[in-house]
Amino acid sequence: MTLDVLLVSPPFWDPYAPSAANPALLGYLRGQQCTGAQIDLNQAYFLDRLDPLVQGALSDIADPDVLAARVPTEHRVVMGLDQAAPDLLRRWDISEETMTLEGFRTAIASWDRLDALNVVDAIMHYGYFIRHDPAIAGAIDDRAALDDPAWAPMRRLVNELLLPRLERDRPAVLGLSVLGEQQLAPTLAITQWVREAGHNPLIVWGGSHVRAIHSMARNGPAWWRRLPDLLVLGEGETALTTLARRARDAQRTGAHAWAARMTFDRRPNQPGFVPGTIAQPVERVLVTSKRYEEVTTLSAYDFDGLDLHGSYLMPWPTIPYQGSRGCHWGLCGFCDHEEGYRLHYRPKESEQVVDNLLSYRERFGIEHVQFVDEAIEPAWLRDLNDELERRSLAGMFRWSNYSKVSVELDSTLLDRTYANGGRLILFGVESFNQRVLNVVKKGIRRKDALATIRATHAAGIRSWIWLIAGLPTQTPEELAGDIEDLRSLEGIVDAVSVGRYRISENSDIYREMAKYGIIEADLAHPMEVRYTSGEQIVDNAEIARLYYQEYYPQAIGMSLTHNRYLLFADALKREGSGPRGPRPAPRRAVVGGATRTGEVLGNI
Ligand code: SF4
Repeated sequence: MTLDVLLVSPPFWDPYAPSAANPALLGYLRGQQCTGAQIDLNQAYFLDRLDPLVQGALSDIADPDVLAARVPTEHRVVMGLDQAAPDLLRRWDISEETMTLEGFRTAIASWDRLDALNVVDAIMHYGYFIRHDPAIAGAIDDRAALDDPAWAPMRRLVNELLLPRLERDRPAVLGLSVLGEQQLAPTLAITQWVREAGHNPLIVWGGSHVRAIHSMARNGPAWWRRLPDLLVLGEGETALTTLARRARDAQRTGAHAWAARMTFDRRPNQPGFVPGTIAQPVERVLVTSKRYEEVTTLSAYDFDGLDLHGSYLMPWPTIPYQGSRGCHWGLCGFCDHEEGYRLHYRPKESEQVVDNLLSYRERFGIEHVQFVDEAIEPAWLRDLNDELERRSLAGMFRWSNYSKVSVELDSTLLDRTYANGGRLILFGVESFNQRVLNVVKKGIRRKDALATIRATHAAGIRSWIWLIAGLPTQTPEELAGDIEDLRSLEGIVDAVSVGRYRISENSDIYREMAKYGIIEADLAHPMEVRYTSGEQIVDNAEIARLYYQEYYPQAIGMSLTHNRYLLFADALKREGSGPRGPRPAPRRAVVGGATRTGEVLGNI
């Protein structure tokens, strides 16, 4: 048997649910009569390492020196630790069994103790994402680090799961999806091991982190830059399909080293050019012509090959899904999504969305969805409600989504959304100060932000808000006003994620710093931004003090959890007792920084 494409999700990604990237690609490839399959190596690795990572985390927490040196403040706050705790689990009345896949899934589905669930999540998060041996990240700079014993468990898993598939299925293309920076080291390790084992499919790296990878490959002597045959930048459906067909044809010639002999033209007017791809030598390509897919041509995601019901942490299998690509607003000055993408807003028709949801239910038994669109547009949400009601599907699905606050998100629309299945909305609010909102082009009004959050609460839908301290031109007095506004939402908002402003290379603010009053910024220290307000230089030390001493603790105190899955699960549990369900008393939790671009990784 031969496959056209084998897709792999590398380790160090979200263990609660699969990512959208490979299922979206697989659905599209199969719709184009290409053969494909996928392996979630992230989930396989997480489950393989779960016991040692938990034991390692607990051992760090029990040791005063290691706790102080390695465990981040956010994790310590969640665990309620001001000193080392050899008895952490007993303190929180958490059994050893809860620290297993089945134990945690059962706890998420049944416990009325979000604070204890937060502790389990923090232990696993620390063990999986933070507590890495230095040789793991070290492999990015030094090929020799791959020989360190720290890599042995991942290598064993690749030997057991991936290499036999390559041997058996002989895929023409091996695609690795790199969604975050922590996946780069596993990606280059896997590619290196595949090459060493003598497999030579066309190896393609894609995903939202590829742009950063390309910059690294161009700007430094990265030892790994020749490992992949191509990078795919941006949306990859058409590019990967084209590559699959060409690679399949090349493979069928039976020529020795057929993949290495394939050539790719660099100019869009040349016949061998594939839009959105960067061929070797990658460092010689400055920009590539990107492709933005026509969303009506996109297929339903295909989760074939993933154990949706048994191997992810969410006990209600929950899948990510995009009802649109790009952003319906697109103008926020701080936004670090690639400009072409965010300004190319392409919503799917509600009929297509509901058809897709029904297919997930019929084919995979899925009724829980997280819409991972950048921000759901009110008109789009109205259409979704219309379509669900028109087909008598109200209440069949449960979902969460991201949104921008809007006067159109009123109680009528939110009540309908609850009735039809909406249970959690994550809002990018950023600030409650109208002047600051105007400066950063957020396109929202302060009073609409406060009203929308209250209306969401009144409709029985959980809310999560993001706020940013130290947006350009914001004064300490204005930040103090934001803190007061946040206090006014005590008991109304369910989770608050507040972070300090970090300047990003890809944002409008960075491109036009003077316009935003910025007089000093350094991408290597993105929070150390100095700016003016009017003629005055703003005291950024006072902004930082307000953030650490008042804003962040206030956000922690108001948040039921720091994890969107746990908040969504809590909403599902509580609706069992009535149409709205009782709301829990707020409990102390912690919410981390303001990272929420692309797929949200980790939750602390
Ligand atoms: S921050 Fe969010 S709402 Fe603003 S442009 Fe970016 S994706 Fe759109």
